Amino acid sequence: MKLVALPAFSDNYIWLLHDGQRALVVDPGQAQPVLDALQRLSLSLEAILVTHHHADHVGGVAGLREATGAAVYGPAREAMPQPLTLLKGGEHVTALGLQFEVIDVPGHTAGHIAYFCREPGDLAPLMFCGDTLFSGGCGRLFEGTPLQMLGSLQTLAALPGNTRVCCAHEYTLSNLRFAQAVEPANAELSAYIERCQALRAQQLPTLPSTLALERQINPFLRSGEPQVMAAARRFDPEAQGPVACFAALRQWKNQF
Ligand code: ZN
Ligand code: FE
Repeated sequence: MKLVALPAFSDNYIWLLHDGQRALVVDPGQAQPVLDALQRLSLSLEAILVTHHHADHVGGVAGLREATGAAVYGPAREAMPQPLTLLKGGEHVTALGLQFEVIDVPGHTAGHIAYFCREPGDLAPLMFCGDTLFSGGCGRLFEGTPLQMLGSLQTLAALPGNTRVCCAHEYTLSNLRFAQAVEPANAELSAYIERCQALRAQQLPTLPSTLALERQINPFLRSGEPQVMAAARRFDPEAQGPVACFAALRQWKNQF
């Protein structure tokens, strides 16, 4: 199996997974980058997985369905370009002979789902998390509450540490600037920033990340750590428990 990040718009990635013949894509906000890759790699598109309803994730679905006949899967609780197979947490999708578990991750949008594949052939486990978890950050809360988003992030963070985190945006460097303001003494974070700066200087993706790394550097997965809670309280002295500290962090990041 091969995993490829196809750049789209200014900072989206459309994830392409293929076995040399058959392919699936996740969140094709545009059709053309996918059509180009299918032609370049001589692949046939078998499936399209969608995490949530935003235009930069679904804009290419209708065009790709028409051009390739691929099966489309998406969240049951969001308005999606029909026809497609509707999915809820706990259900499974089979594509490329692999099984993908559907996980409900409300917060960025109300019906957002993620896809987790425990055994993608010869690769480490894969997670396609849309705009829920980013490297060093998390999605904005457009439709959900801090409690929902924190629960969603905790569900994802509990998956195996070697899971590849396939996020839908290259937001890493700006997220890490904020992470460093929260935890200036985090040595793993400083080392990771240097690695990401080197990648971006060569126009290479910083993704996929891994869950083990995110648990060490991502303030939104660390909102229960004493030093992260203390930082959140410097922004909002009223923030008390884990959910309030998480909400304060998200608010701080919004205006950072
Ligand atoms: Zn979105
Ligand atoms: Fe997005």
